[in-house]
Amino acid sequence: MDKRIEIISGDITRSDADAIANAANTSLLGGGGVDGAIHRAAGPELLAECRTLGGCETGRAKITKGYRLRAKYVLHTPGPVWSGGGHGEAEKLAGCYTSCLELASRYGCKTVDFPSISTGVYGYPVDKAARVALGAISAYLAGHPEIERVRMVCFDERTKRAYDEALAGL
Ligand code: ADP
Repeated sequence: MDKRIEIISGDITRSDADAIANAANTSLLGGGGVDGAIHRAAGPELLAECRTLGGCETGRAKITKGYRLRAKYVLHTPGPVWSGGGHGEAEKLAGCYTSCLELASRYGCKTVDFPSISTGVYGYPVDKAARVALGAISAYLAGHPEIERVRMVCFDERTKRAYDEALAGL
């Protein structure tokens, strides 16, 4: 178990990490859930920058500034919509975490906070998503000492429990 991974409860819009991830959609033009909350907290400049990016593929990530957030950067990553598990959902979800961390390394971020990607409106079962997320994060960290801390910021107790259990089982 990598000591740099932490599971916390909280609201990611209040994060003081160098970068936060946003569970975006492929348009990158904002949505509900954590995406809407991040845009509201960051201010309209965030949407203006997102409009210049031309969207993003599922399982990949694009970076913007954080504007009015405490975080310097936002890593926008569209997670997969759950459709039973036989449509490459796990590979795409792992790709979200890996792509975000690659950008974080490239931009000199030492601390990164993630929401639970795909487990809200996109319907990914949280116990399965937690194992994929933490597997991808720990695999990335194994080769990247420059990242000092990665936190999963859980918005509700059920999500927190799922990630705590997945971390214990790594
Ligand atoms: P997706 O479309 O990828 O499923 P959602 O935004 O619907 O994304 O949900 C992803 C997760 O983010 C859910 O666990 C939801 O409870 C959580 N969430 C919503 N708002 C916040 C917030 N402000 N901070 C952290 N997590 C949040």
